[in-house]
Amino acid sequence: MRRLPTSLKLLLLGPLVFLSFFAAVISSTGSAPQQIPPVRNVLIVTMDGMRWQEVFGGMSRDLLTPKEGGVSDAPRVEARFGGATPDERREKLMPFFWTTIAKQGQVFGDPSKASLARVTNGLRFSYPGYNEILSGFADPRINSNDRIANPNVTVLEWLNGRPGFKGQVAAFASWELLPWILNTERSHVPANGDGMPITNARTERERTINEFAADLPPYWGETRADAPTGFGALEYLKTHRPRVFYVMLGETDEWAHGRRYDLYLDAAWRNDRFIRRLWDTAQSLPEYAGRTALVLTTDHGRGQTTQNWTSHGEKVPEADQIWMAVMGPGIPSLGLRSGLNVTQSQAAATVAMLLGEDYNAVQPKAAAPLTLTK
Ligand SMILES: [Zn+2]
Repeated sequence: MRRLPTSLKLLLLGPLVFLSFFAAVISSTGSAPQQIPPVRNVLIVTMDGMRWQEVFGGMSRDLLTPKEGGVSDAPRVEARFGGATPDERREKLMPFFWTTIAKQGQVFGDPSKASLARVTNGLRFSYPGYNEILSGFADPRINSNDRIANPNVTVLEWLNGRPGFKGQVAAFASWELLPWILNTERSHVPANGDGMPITNARTERERTINEFAADLPPYWGETRADAPTGFGALEYLKTHRPRVFYVMLGETDEWAHGRRYDLYLDAAWRNDRFIRRLWDTAQSLPEYAGRTALVLTTDHGRGQTTQNWTSHGEKVPEADQIWMAVMGPGIPSLGLRSGLNVTQSQAAATVAMLLGEDYNAVQPKAAAPLTLTK
């Protein structure tokens, strides 16, 4: 081997020291380090039972029928969400997601890009899914949607006890189960999901939001419409400015169970508009502008046929396929990720990592954060 000139050796020494440092980091944590500068805040939004089929392909024409989709006015739905290609259709359905998040951030789970995002709990319904998202692992003890206080400390509860985060974590949901999932009695994380969207309304606007919410029909019992949840959440963001804020939207699942494809699509479109509002509102506030990341996902997928698209659970194996998305300063704009499989359980550690916190260090059962660098 040829001897290298001394000057070249010195030139190589710097990078070598650098590389060996990384090798040490890799061997100590078991996963590659990611050079993502931490953000101050993370906003998390989930769309209950929102299928990857519509996220990546937009409206499916097969379901614009009275029998399969419960759609009585197909031309109207077609005019609103139709398009020649999946790209065109998905952008009509979720314009903020596709024109902003997928361009500036990253999207996981498009099977046509050899990327699968999967639920690992095997049950494929809500509470097990939300536990997996927020605790970072599937727990066989969580096997119903019953009102049982979560035995697991979620990443939200853990963060709420970290220096700089105390009283800076909050959550809103359309589903009444949220306080149980976050075990509010133990975690003390404010979790709005039951009753009025604004607790202790003080301003005229807050009282109006509550009055409006009370005037909506309680169509699904345990789940309220996403509109009051969204208005309540936006108001909370403005008045409390939490560093970690989770919003659990619910209508997509309800309309799908009700076999109303038109209203399922409409709910997805309104959810996308809410996410845009949440993001824009955050960017207008000094605490959030330029130092906030967004994490999006769903609790489970659904069936893939025109018959069982309404359904999910243990008997619908394909409902373990989901989608995830992230965006924020410092997150490389890699767009639609290809050739990369991820799991729902990675969400918790991802939220922590974005804030510069290591959730895996305290919860060894939690999956590693999403790989956000190439
Ligand atoms: Zn459901």
